Amino acid sequence: MEQSYDMIIIGAGPAGMSAAIYAARAGMAVLVLEKTGIQGGQVLNTYEVDNYPALPEISGFDLCMKMKEHMEKLGVKSRDGDVTEIIDQGEVKMVCTAEGNYITKTVVIASGAHHAKLGVSGEEEFAGMGVSYCATCDGAFFRGKTTAVIGGGDVAVEDAIFLARGCEKVYLIHRRDELRAAKSLQEALFKLPNVEILWDTTVDEIAGSEQVEYLKLNHVKNGEKSELKINGVFVAVGIIPNSKAFEGFVEMDEKGYIKAGEDGHTSVKGVFAAGDVRTKQLRQIITAAADGANAVTSAERYLAG
Ligand code: NAP
Repeated sequence: MEQSYDMIIIGAGPAGMSAAIYAARAGMAVLVLEKTGIQGGQVLNTYEVDNYPALPEISGFDLCMKMKEHMEKLGVKSRDGDVTEIIDQGEVKMVCTAEGNYITKTVVIASGAHHAKLGVSGEEEFAGMGVSYCATCDGAFFRGKTTAVIGGGDVAVEDAIFLARGCEKVYLIHRRDELRAAKSLQEALFKLPNVEILWDTTVDEIAGSEQVEYLKLNHVKNGEKSELKINGVFVAVGIIPNSKAFEGFVEMDEKGYIKAGEDGHTSVKGVFAAGDVRTKQLRQIITAAADGANAVTSAERYLAG
């Protein structure tokens, strides 16, 4: 058993790092646990973040590094730790990881979210062989080639814009006739000559021999079936909260988001949720960072009784 903490923060994305900065400034004994061992979370894979105030056009990687530096300058310690369970022992909580258990007075769950799968034939078979969930990580492999992005949200449109810089042709395949992504992103996308949008279209199968070679498509309005030759496909069909370890411990909604308001309070006293993992309207870096600050303020009030 380890020393006990005032606060353990689970996850080192913008919500977790912001919470760590606020906790350190509040004089708390705080520890950040990060499953992947790398601070940043999903933002690390964002090519360009253009909506974080005062830092226009900063890359996701650079923004994460700035947050990490800030956190470390305040003396925050972080450790690798894949949290498997939290046990409520009343005044204290036990945070269990594969590497060891920790005792803490409060917990901030800021474990974020991960990419959803499309769930079609060929998706698993060709993972890493032409199927990717991260354009900024894998886009360079498709320089001068033809790729497709599936989805109509911010991530899909950002991915298509990013890929269009290096690919000869990019198809954006969306199941409706309207994109969900922010209007500013849509405008940037519509200007690109090498991007073609396939509206009202779903993917039935990802196919090929050794590598992905083509997609079997379905037009949802007229039922027409077609095949599209591509070299790579990027799946961007939404996110799933990283909340499995907390099932049965805190209340969640039907999608697995931890039920918590802006103050971060969950159904368990002393346990707070921040960032993409909690129920909220807008999942952005800035709202995640704000959540971290709010959760720590709530925790301070909780500790003060
Ligand atoms: P999202 O906003 O949930 O969009 C998912 C997209 O995938 C939607 O267009 C959806 O179609 C489509 N989709 C879902 N399931 C599908 C399926 N089975 N087959 C085909 N298409 C499917 O998810 P996201 O783009 O990953 O973004 C996640 C969150 O991060 C969002 O809250 C987003 O705003 C935020 N984000 C913000 C920024 C930024 O501010 N710069 C950048 C990245 C992400 P429908 O539209 O028909 O539902």
